[in-house]
Parts: sequence; structure tokens; C-alpha cells
Amino acid sequence: MTSGYIGRLAPSPTGLLHLGHAATFWTAYQRAQEHRGTLLLRNEDLDPQRSKQEFVEAMLEDLAWLGIEWAPPIVVQSRRVQLYREAFARLLAGGFAYPCTCSRRDLALMVQAPHEESDDEPVYNGHCRPVASASSTAIEPGMNYRLRVPDGETIRFSDRNLGAQSFIAGIDFGDFLIWRKDGLPSYQLACVIDDAAMGITEVVRGADLLKSTARQILLQRALNLQSPAYFHAQLLRDEHGVRLAKRHDALAIRTLRQQGVAPEMVPMIAQSLKTR
Ligand code: GLU
Ligand code: ZN
Repeated sequence: MTSGYIGRLAPSPTGLLHLGHAATFWTAYQRAQEHRGTLLLRNEDLDPQRSKQEFVEAMLEDLAWLGIEWAPPIVVQSRRVQLYREAFARLLAGGFAYPCTCSRRDLALMVQAPHEESDDEPVYNGHCRPVASASSTAIEPGMNYRLRVPDGETIRFSDRNLGAQSFIAGIDFGDFLIWRKDGLPSYQLACVIDDAAMGITEVVRGADLLKSTARQILLQRALNLQSPAYFHAQLLRDEHGVRLAKRHDALAIRTLRQQGVAPEMVPMIAQSLKTR
């Protein structure tokens, strides 16, 4: 008997899985087990420059070695662009989005929030935001698009691990990218569409994505989609308090394996890095 719980693992095949991923995926696996639920696997391969088939194979092998099981079939984002395009068209028609012509350089000059904990994008300064929202039906090729966020509104959610969360639109995050000029959706849009389409009831992921959750709640609202529950796992830190994912030498799962570490030790090693 399975319950109604549906979770997911959502790795990006842009590198080898490290201890931080293992900790989050292990938590996702455990929570699905505890709820007698189903765990699905989504291959987040939408970055054409950084996604590599060899990393897809490596992550499947590493997950299997860790003893993390999921239910087939694997959902592959690069095959679902039509679905994302339809959602984007709905956002455009609803007047929620606008084209942005800012260059990478313009964006880099926008102020980054101080003591940033995540690899978050800078708060957009609204340069291309039209005064009044306008609905459109045509997707202009070669153009980036952003979602207009309700400035000053506090977005709240209750995290099942970290408790009450709140972020202010326009301050903690700005109008964010939903469609890229290369004809692909942003992470935020693809994630929201897939979590809904896959019937995910609880999202387990790293605490670096808390602010993304606030953005995703706005997308769910605009698209009339129900929000799943969220469980953000604590990030791992080294002895200097540096986030493991920020270290280029972050321990790869296969390095541990080559060193002779037993797979059942990995969750314990990860746990010891959470308490620092
Ligand atoms: N693919 C994302 C990552 O590796 C995970 C996104 C998510 O869990 O929503 O950071
Ligand atoms: Zn712009």
C-alpha cells in the first residue's frame, strides 16, 4: 500500500554529486519511505552548456550506490519544453510577464544583497518593467522574459523542516527570469510546472533554495497551481563554516567510494557536517 505522498529527486547533471547532494537526496528518500510514498526522479538537464550525459550516468550510479531508490520512469526536462512553453504563454496572456533586454553585464552591475547565503540571482532593478502590465500573445524569439513580482508583498510559507519563512517581493528578490532567449524556461518555471505535473506533494531540497520557493509560490499563484509542501534541508558546512557546495573540492560521492567508505556511512558523515 502506498500513501498519497509523492516526492522527487531533482539533480542537475552539471557535475558529480557531492556529499551535500547525498544528504539532501537521502533526506528525500527517507521522508518518502516514512510516508510510504513514491519518490520520482527528475533529470534537470535544461542548461545546454553545462548538462552532460556522462553526469547523468554518474548520478544514477551514485544514487544506486547510496541505496536511494526511486520509481521509474525518469522525467527528463529537456524533452518537456512544449509543456513549459504553454505555461509561459499563459503567463504572457495573463499580463504577468514582460521582455527584458538587459545584458549579462547590466545584470551583473545590479546590487547583490549583502551576505548572500545562496547562489541567488541579483535583485532586478526593474529597468525593462513596463509601467502598466500588458498582456501579449506572441513569444518573441531571442528575448528574455521576467515575471512581475508584487513589490512590497510578504510571501509566507511554513517549511516542514525550518518553520515559518517570509520573503518580501521586490526586496529579497525582484522580477525574475522565467523564459530565456535561447527558447528554454528558467529553472523557476520548469520546476513549478513539473512539480505540479508530477503531482509532487512535498518538495525536499537544500535550504539554498528557500528564496526560490517564494518565487515559485508566486508562479503557482499566477498559473492557478496548488503549492506542494516544502521541506528544506540544512546545508552542510566544513570546519570553517563554509558551505560545502561553495568549495570546489566538495567531496564527490565517488571519491568517498574510492576511499572505501561504506555507503551506509554517508548519511552519518553528512549529519556530522550539519551541526557546525
Ligand atoms: N536541480 C536543482 C539543483 O540541483 C534542484 C532544484 C529543486 O530541487 O527544486 O540545485
Ligand atoms: Zn531588463
